[in-house]
Parts: sequence; structure tokens; C-alpha cells
Amino acid sequence: MNFSKLSDSISGEVIVPGDQQYEEARAIYNGMIDKRPAAIVKCQNTDDVVAAVNFGRENRIETAIRGGGHNGAGLALVDGGLVIDLAEMNEIKVDAAAKTARVQGGCLLKDVDAATHEHGLALPSGIIGTTGIGGLTLGGGMGYLSRKGGLTIDNLLECEVVLASGEVVTANEHSHPDLFWALRGGGGNFGVVTSFKFHLLDVKNVYAGPMFWPLEKARAAMQFYDELTKDAPNDLYGFFAFLRVPPAPPFPEHLWNQKVCGVVWNYTGPMDEVERVFKPIREFGPPVLDFVSEIPMPALNSMFDALYPPGMQWYWRAHYLDELTDGAIDVNIKYGEKIPNFHTTTHLYPIDGAVHEVGSNETAWAIRDARWAQVIVGVDPDAANAGTVTDWCKNFHTALTPHARGGAYVNFMMEEGQEKIKAAYGDNYAKLAAIKAEYDADNFFHVNQNIKPQLESSGV
Ligand SMILES: Cc1cc2nc3c(=O)[nH]c(=O)nc-3n(C[C@H](O)[C@H](O)[C@H](O)COP(=O)(O)OP(=O)(O)OC[C@H]3O[C@@H](n4cnc5c(N)ncnc54)[C@H](O)[C@@H]3O)c2cc1C
Repeated sequence: MNFSKLSDSISGEVIVPGDQQYEEARAIYNGMIDKRPAAIVKCQNTDDVVAAVNFGRENRIETAIRGGGHNGAGLALVDGGLVIDLAEMNEIKVDAAAKTARVQGGCLLKDVDAATHEHGLALPSGIIGTTGIGGLTLGGGMGYLSRKGGLTIDNLLECEVVLASGEVVTANEHSHPDLFWALRGGGGNFGVVTSFKFHLLDVKNVYAGPMFWPLEKARAAMQFYDELTKDAPNDLYGFFAFLRVPPAPPFPEHLWNQKVCGVVWNYTGPMDEVERVFKPIREFGPPVLDFVSEIPMPALNSMFDALYPPGMQWYWRAHYLDELTDGAIDVNIKYGEKIPNFHTTTHLYPIDGAVHEVGSNETAWAIRDARWAQVIVGVDPDAANAGTVTDWCKNFHTALTPHARGGAYVNFMMEEGQEKIKAAYGDNYAKLAAIKAEYDADNFFHVNQNIKPQLESSGV
């Protein structure tokens, strides 16, 4: 395929195999993925995206969309196809008075954090700064501010979208409301989002950080955490984790590589309340490590970035949990004891609080009544250990299945088949398929957790 017609018509570059930048351009976060696209289009503006979409469609080339390149399954790339790379579309404009931000589709979370923090504002997003706002938002977006402000999509006001036809539309509550509904959870199925407009929260500094207990206390710690957070105000957030303590400062040397459980807290209420709120938490235990203190919100959002640089081997699986039953706790402890290295971990992300204040049918993101999204993540820098971390992850996931509520967060899935995708969307799948049929009947955008176009009335 000759891409010169495309490269002549756009401001950005088109990178093909053999070009000096090709290896760098095709590298994504998960080192397990090794895909070789026919061309990577480094878009600089919406017109470039339109040209790339039209080129891909007219020439019938499989086309993928790359935001931050963090997708575990490697859905930012396609073997032998065209990649619409948005990394250079990374402008952010904050309107501090209106408490909104206009964010281009290729921005990373850390850039959004930095730009909003300057104004004492924050967007609920994810826990690693190098993640792309594009994929994270379109899949839902959960993190330290979920209990306070909901998912990232719950703060989404508008999108500019390049459709499969090449048409550019604005999707919000009034313009293309069906598309706007689908974009809030439906992933990259409906078009290329060139910019997002978000509502921002008044959050500047938070009282936050990790607190660990020895693994022997895991059962009591999980039960205590469950009870404490059940009726806690939305200002108190904490995700539960099993891990090995990383063998590096600032962690104390006597804890290096020890298996522990713990919570990474984030309290967004008044600072003069901190002592009262954390008194029972500190009295339970006491913790073997307590790094909870007042820090700027971006420091929390990037706290683990250095531990997880790009290029490592990643394999993950996910569940939704309604409650921490004895069975769920047993499985977590069993596999917590078998964690193979200090990168591998499991996190239980709370999705109650403000996430529950939005109805299951109000956005495409269907599972609004579960309390946690659990991710089980096997990570290792060495490709020789890919099998070990993958097996741990798969076995843990299988063992937890009887204790989970069914379905999983699309952004924590590998390529796991159509039934899993349907389960992720539950009752919303049929409506998503109908909207897909309206906006992308030929399934041009299919390199994603794919929703097949299907008119509702066809009944098939
Ligand atoms: C280290 C790490 C930490 C994470 N932490 C969190 C977390 O705290 N919370 C959370 O919710 N998720 C988290 N995730 C999951 C993350 O949301 C997904 O991996 C998501 O796909 C990443 O988005 P991206 O833009 O970086 O991905 P990419 O790999 O670039 O894109 C993934 C898919 O998203 C779609 N896409 C991306 N951008 C656009 C766009 N602008 N328009 C249309 N489609 C687009 C495309 O379909 C693409 O195939 C994390 C992932 C990693 C690897």
C-alpha cells in the first residue's frame, strides 16, 4: 500500500516500516504486544484525523486508534493496518471560572492533572499518570476521586468526534445525545474523539498514600476495610491491594519484598478532620508502613508511575464484586500469598459513592451497583517471566469467578471474546449495538472491545 497520498494531504507525519522512527512509533506500554502496523499516522489536528479515517475506509485498511497506548490488550495497534496516533494532539485549555477543561484526544492523565491543579481543580481519572485520557475516558475511567466525583465519564460534558464517514460532529446532551450516551463507556467503537470537555472538581491537596499490614492480618484487614468504607462519606476513598513491598527507597529496607496487604487512601474532606477520620484506621493494626499524609493531588495520581515504566510484560484480568464474602477473601489471600514479584498485584477499586448516584442506563457503563472493580495484574520486566505472571493472573481470576458478580470493566480486559464484552455491558449492550449500527454500520472501528452493529428491531 502506498501512503504518499495520505502523507501529502496532512500536517502530521506518516511512519511506515523501514523509517527510522518506526520501532519507537509502534512501541506501546505493554511489552508483551508485538504488532507491526503498515502505517502510523501522527495526527496533528482534526483535519488529519478526518484524512486518516477517509483513507482507511476508502482503501479498506484495518484501522486502530491510539491514545496513550496503555491498553493491556494492545488495541492501540493493528498488524498490517493503519494506526491513527493522537499523541501529538495534546493541548489542554482550562476554564477556571467555569471549572471545565477542553482536553485533546491524545493527552495523558499526568498532563491533565498538572494543568488543572494549577487552578486548584482536578478531574476524576486513573492512578498512573502515563495512561491516555482517550481510552481511559471512553471505557469509563476510575480512580482516587471516583467516590467523590464519579467516573471520568460522569464528568464528561462534550466530545468532538470524527465518525467512520469522516464527518466531524459534536456529541453532548443536546447534540447527538445517543452518541454521547454510547461514548460514555462504549470505548473506541463510535469514532475518533479529537477532544473532550470535562467538568472539574475543587480538589487541590488531599490526605493520601499507602498503608500496609502484614499478610497474616489480611482477613481482618479486608473485613475492617469493608465495614469502614461501606457507609463512609464520599470524601473517603481507599483501594485494597495485595503486593510485595518494592525493594527500593522510600520503602524501609526491612520490608523489601515482603508480602503485605494494604490500602491506598485518599481523603478529600477538610484537613482539620483528618485525625478523627484516620484514628480508627490507625488503631486497627497498627500498620507496618504508613505513608499517608497531606500531598498535592497530582503527587497521588503519579505516586506509582516510576514503579511501572512502559515496556514491561503485562497480563491482566478483572471482575466486579458486590461484597467481600468469606469466599472472595479466601481466594484473595490464597493468591496474595503466591504473588510472584513486586510488580504483580491485585487492586480492588471502589466504584460506590458518587458512581452509584448515576443510573445503570444513564450512560453505556452498565455495572453501577457493584462495590468494587477488581483488577488482577501480572507484571514483570523480563519476557522470560511472562508465562509465570500470566498463569498467576489467570488462575487467580478463575478461582475468584464464583465469588464475583459477572462482567468486568472493559478497560481491564485482554482480548477475551464477544461473550465477555456483552457481559461487560449487561443490559446496555443491545442499545450500544443499535447506536453502533447508526454511526458505524460497517464496523470500521473494530480494533477495540468490539460492539457489533445490530439494529435493535432486527431482533437477531
Ligand atoms: C499502568 C496502567 C494503569 C491504569 N490505571 C487505570 C485506572 O486507574 N483507571 C482506569 O479506569 N483505567 C486504568 N487503566 C486502564 C486504561 O483505562 C486502559 O488501558 C485504556 O485503554 C488506556 O487508554 P489509552 O488511551 O492509554 O489506550 P490506547 O492503548 O491508546 O487505546 C486503547 C483503545 O482506546 C480507544 N481510544 C483511545 N483514545 C481514543 C480516542 N481519542 N478516540 C477514540 N478511541 C480512543 C481505542 O479503541 C483504542 O484501541 C490503566 C492501564 C494501565 C496500563
